[in-house]
Amino acid sequence: MHCPNCKGKNIGKIGNQQFYCWNCFIELSLLGDVLDLHQVEQDGSLSSLNDLFSEDERKASW
Ligand SMILES: [Zn+2]
Repeated sequence: MHCPNCKGKNIGKIGNQQFYCWNCFIELSLLGDVLDLHQVEQDGSLSSLNDLFSEDERKASW
């Protein structure tokens, strides 16, 4: 799999359907076959990045 943001493959698994991109520090959650993208803020909260990507880009390509 690769990160929809940086196209990198530096992805770590952090949970059952959750992954983390070590390049751009975003969290990727797999919902069905679509990725839910979140940025982890410095205070630990999550802000959604889904608006920045089309559904096609968020479709899991693995
Ligand atoms: Zn990335």
